[in-house]
Amino acid sequence: MNANLNADLLIVGITQLATPRGAGAKFGAQMREIVVLEKAAIAISGDRISWVGSAAEWPGTASRTIDLGGCAVIPGLVDPHTHAVWAGDRLGDFDARTSGVSYEQILASGGGIWSTIRATTSASDDALVSLAEQRVWSLVRSGATVVEIKSGYGFTVANELRMLEVIRRLALRLPIRIVPTLLIHIPPNDTREREAYVEQVRSELIPEVVRRGLAQAVDIFIEKEAWNTTEAESVLICALEHGLRVKVHAEQFHSVGGVELALRLGALSVDHLEACTARQYAVFRNAQTIATVLPGVSLHLGIPKAPGRQLIDAGAAVAVGTDLNPGSSPLFAISAALGLAVRLNGLTAAEALVAGTANAAQALGMSDAARVEAGMPADFAVLQSSDWRDLIYCMGMNPVRETWCKGQRIVPEQSRRERDDG
Ligand SMILES: [Zn+2]
Repeated sequence: MNANLNADLLIVGITQLATPRGAGAKFGAQMREIVVLEKAAIAISGDRISWVGSAAEWPGTASRTIDLGGCAVIPGLVDPHTHAVWAGDRLGDFDARTSGVSYEQILASGGGIWSTIRATTSASDDALVSLAEQRVWSLVRSGATVVEIKSGYGFTVANELRMLEVIRRLALRLPIRIVPTLLIHIPPNDTREREAYVEQVRSELIPEVVRRGLAQAVDIFIEKEAWNTTEAESVLICALEHGLRVKVHAEQFHSVGGVELALRLGALSVDHLEACTARQYAVFRNAQTIATVLPGVSLHLGIPKAPGRQLIDAGAAVAVGTDLNPGSSPLFAISAALGLAVRLNGLTAAEALVAGTANAAQALGMSDAARVEAGMPADFAVLQSSDWRDLIYCMGMNPVRETWCKGQRIVPEQSRRERDDG
């Protein structure tokens, strides 16, 4: 039935094609299996994959053939959690912290997240777009073809809207897919101001975000030092009533019930989970809500690691993100985040690949990403190595040689001649 297939491009010379399981497999909850196809070929028509199989069994003809010369291929990776739009830096904070100054002292002297909010607020839109663009390209060079970006350094309705507009402009300049999220990050110190801000978020910010089509989901930071579960619930219910999906930052430093709230509301994901308790692991069993772990934060801040192994063993579907941000996770490679998840959170290499592909896509509510199979967008990464496990294993070098998105090689960028030839 595949005879006489006609493709624009046939990619051969693939030693191993490692991808989450193919058509008919159950994705999301409990998905931890991959298939590794040896000596594979991928056929591309337009911006989609039209055929995948053993190179010897390719039944059609192709206008053009590219021989990779013996490399492993994986799906385009999905980074489901970043704060890639910011200005300023936290290098002074890092110097202070590594010299023994506590985060509380750094905050009290005007550093920490407050310095990022100030610098981001005073930067121009053009500067924010250009800074973030370079960071996203770094993620793309590490194999990412889908990147989520949150607002959250705005701190006022007007500034959060401005951040989301910057993310929209950024998305138009990039070849990959950008998924924007409205993040309600840090509350004001004064109790009355907190109440007023929650009310403003509900009555002004969320309706305006929906009116302008600026975000697909609303995220909120639930923590002893941030928003409590009552405040979070009222914001998230408002988001759901406006047709947006919801997700949370929860259980980062304390177990405060963010997991239970998020699961009850059918959240796309619960992110962080470093302080998640054994009782909470079980809540994820058979849930569609993804447990997203962010190992860059544990490494950079020296805080406990999220219990990835225990969550998977309890039946959770785990995703991994970089949490790219200036203060707690200056991690500019999704491939490195997956390698850290194996070493710090106890995932196997295969589970890490699922965590950075199928499960990360589900954490963004996407069903058309992160699998190399017929009908999917032609998004994939070519590794330097002939063995896909080097994606996870190698440290300090980029394991990704090429990133392809929508049937085009975007890293390294195609020369004009290559484009003309294509
Ligand atoms: Zn975050």
